Amino acid sequence: MSKSPHETDVVVIGAGIGGLTAGALLAKRGYRVKVFDQAWVPGGCASTFKRRGFTFDVGATQVAGLEPGGIHHRIFQELGVEIPTASHCDPACAVFLPGETEPISVWRDPDQWQAEREKHFPGSDGFWQLLANLFRYNWGFQSRDPVIPPRNLWDGWQLLQAVRPDTLLTVPHLFTTVGQLLRLTGLGNQRRLKTFLDLQLKLYSQVNADQTALLYAATALGVSQAPQGLFHLHGSMQVLSDRIVEALKKHGGELHMGHSVDQIQVHSQELLGVLIRQQKTGETWTESADHVVANVTVQNLVRLLGEDAPRQYQQRVKKLPPSSGAFVIYLGVDAAAIPENCPPHLQFLYDYDGPIGENNSLFVSVSRPGDGRAPEGKATIIASSFTDPKLWDEAEDYDALKQEYTEGAIARLSQYFHLTSDTIIHQEAATPRTFAHFTGRSQGIVGGIGQRLSTFGPFGFATRTPIKRLWLVGDSTHPGEGTAGVSYSALTAVNQLMAMDGTLSME
Ligand SMILES: Cc1cc2nc3c(=O)[nH]c(=O)nc-3n(C[C@H](O)[C@H](O)[C@H](O)COP(=O)(O)OP(=O)(O)OC[C@H]3O[C@@H](n4cnc5c(N)ncnc54)[C@H](O)[C@@H]3O)c2cc1C
Repeated sequence: MSKSPHETDVVVIGAGIGGLTAGALLAKRGYRVKVFDQAWVPGGCASTFKRRGFTFDVGATQVAGLEPGGIHHRIFQELGVEIPTASHCDPACAVFLPGETEPISVWRDPDQWQAEREKHFPGSDGFWQLLANLFRYNWGFQSRDPVIPPRNLWDGWQLLQAVRPDTLLTVPHLFTTVGQLLRLTGLGNQRRLKTFLDLQLKLYSQVNADQTALLYAATALGVSQAPQGLFHLHGSMQVLSDRIVEALKKHGGELHMGHSVDQIQVHSQELLGVLIRQQKTGETWTESADHVVANVTVQNLVRLLGEDAPRQYQQRVKKLPPSSGAFVIYLGVDAAAIPENCPPHLQFLYDYDGPIGENNSLFVSVSRPGDGRAPEGKATIIASSFTDPKLWDEAEDYDALKQEYTEGAIARLSQYFHLTSDTIIHQEAATPRTFAHFTGRSQGIVGGIGQRLSTFGPFGFATRTPIKRLWLVGDSTHPGEGTAGVSYSALTAVNQLMAMDGTLSME
């Protein structure tokens, strides 16, 4: 007979938003939860660090799902903790194409966004209308908590229950990419539109319009408009993890920072527990567990399982297309560096040559006065670009490469911001090596497995792993990267875990 939740031990590996959310939900639902994280600050890619009075968001700077009914909102309500104060990102992003000084502004108001699109991309209304319809169907479907991809009958039943007649309208588009739709609608030659889509999609899906699955793109591009929208947290991104940690502890869960999990222990396909190493003392021990929730990349999961990783699973992970890393520059500046009416989030493409995102574009987030990130009269500028982790792994002179990237990024940012030795107060950069060190992510890859046709949603990695009672949450699973995405994946795994234990009542 299954044990009751208060007799059931769950170990969560990783205190990223995915792990913290799973841990807090399980603690709230009565489980005995211990979360272990190798870092010293919770939040993973959505954490922060402080320098000279500035607070820098490490990775994530915008949050989706805080509106009523949104995934963070739902989870915060269930956990009984206050929803963090936030303001709308409006525009969600101001996108500057090469040589252009007027941006394409992704407004939150749907009518304003439509007018902006008509101005910049005449004749593309049919394309956007289809995306808007697909977004509506997807959104309704996802809000009914389907399990994607399903791995057993229970999962399949959850999936079926979430289906409505309009969900079926998405099925014909299951194997279509954004690039294909552009060509089908006669827009394949519209370079500005294609480039805009490449830029925006690269941020969310890791790949360009030709490779991004249309159904994923519809959600990623649709979420910026009302009644949804992207949010800017007051305080810093740390507020999000702090609130979930508060909930975890309030409901009796434990958080152990500075503790690495070196191995997931399995015997004859039976989960035993995890091998923990306390970083300060080097002490190791086995923490036995009834369930383990791994908030790591799927590549890390295979590594933690070692020889116990099922062969087919290992092969699948090995065959994944390479993932991107990020180069991020963090600037603490005098407010004089920021142009008047500067949008809080901007994206720049510097030339049309070369693959988008590979060192020829920057995504930039700028703090707002009084938002808790910079002292009065100062601001933070954080700019990121995608980069191949191998470049950094194999660099003969890593420091020189980092310096070159830093100088290149500052020179490019100087085309928009007033950056001089007088206005820059602090500067620092992170590379895939930095991300590997601080977030434990294999090779420092960020943003999940990419949303190609072969890897998105139904074709991606499941939260239910082939090892019974071992669950995977985070941006390697559906619906992909972002704090909202990994919260969905945490909720899915928690429901699956409870259903396996017979402790979930689903009306
Ligand atoms: C530059 C950048 C910009 C981004 N911008 C946005 C944005 O604006 N909005 C948005 O929503 N998303 C954004 N993202 C994506 C978002 O940050 C991530 O998808 C999300 O935070 C990932 O959460 P996670 O819980 O899956 O994993 P992670 O954040 O990677 O957390 C995993 C945790 O597990 C710990 N860990 C790993 N291995 C072990 C181990 N063996 N033992 C113990 N602990 C371990 C790590 O220390 C880490 O704390 C951005 C990401 C980057 C890199």
